[in-house]
Parts: sequence; structure tokens; C-alpha cells
Amino acid sequence: MKPSSFKFALSLINSRFGDGYASAYFENDELKEGFHLLSSDSAVLIYSPVELHPKFYAHSKNALVLNVAAVQKNLQNTGKASALLNGFHEQFSGHCDILIPLWYYEGSTNLQHWIQKKEGRLLASFNEYWKKESIEMAYVCLHCGAPPCLCRMDLYLLPRK
Ligand SMILES: [Zn+2]
Repeated sequence: MKPSSFKFALSLINSRFGDGYASAYFENDELKEGFHLLSSDSAVLIYSPVELHPKFYAHSKNALVLNVAAVQKNLQNTGKASALLNGFHEQFSGHCDILIPLWYYEGSTNLQHWIQKKEGRLLASFNEYWKKESIEMAYVCLHCGAPPCLCRMDLYLLPRK
């Protein structure tokens, strides 16, 4: 992976999810251990093994977590994100469950439609899921503004095929 791809991913994630959000996955412009990046010219995905996420672990022993899916704002609803997501799904859905934590707030646009098409289902919801982390990492949620973030997290499952 070229360093330029990391820089692109980092700035895209911060612009779509809130300043500083990418620091959950990057350190000194490098991906943190255990996280993986898929990117195209306009969209990025970050995924990781479920072992990195002890809170989700009980839901599935053989799973990947799709941490982030972000597409450039002016290219939303153009199929750019779906193309990358479909490639990811084809690559992994035969081998393991895919867990998708979705940031939810009133008016949020997210992956629900794509998840439905892939026959995913809601496993659980966690209120104020990012509250502690947003304070510790001082990131500015696009919905809540300055910490704390009080958004809900909806955890979806795309079962292994
Ligand atoms: Zn929030």
C-alpha cells in the first residue's frame, strides 16, 4: 500500500466522520496494527479481525469487522462505495461473518440499504457507544460537535454464506 493511499484514506475519513476520527485507525500516517485498508480513487474501507473488538467478540468467533466505509461527499450515491463494498463482500463472505458497526443519528446516511441487499440483520444497538472514546480521543462528531459524542451504534451482521 502506497503512503499516498494512507494519506487519502486518513483525510477522507476525517472529512466524513469528524476531525480526528481517523486517529482510531492511523498513527503517524500509518495504519495501526490489525487494521486493513481497501481503497479506490474515491472511497475507502477499513476492516479488522473481530479479536480487536472485545465488545463484539461474543457475537461471532469467526468474523471480520467492517470499521469504516467512506466515500467522497460529491460522489455519494454514484455506486463508487457500493463497488468497493461488493468487492469486499465477495472476497470475505464465503469465509466468515461480517460485523458492521454503524454510526446512527437522526438524519445520518449510512449503509443500511446496502446491508439490506446483502441480507444483513441488526444484532444489537448500543446507546452513546462512542462517548468515552470521543472524550479520550477528543474527536469532533459531525452530529454532536465537540465531545462527548452521544450517538448510537447499531451493530449489523452479514452472515457467512
Ligand atoms: Zn455523535
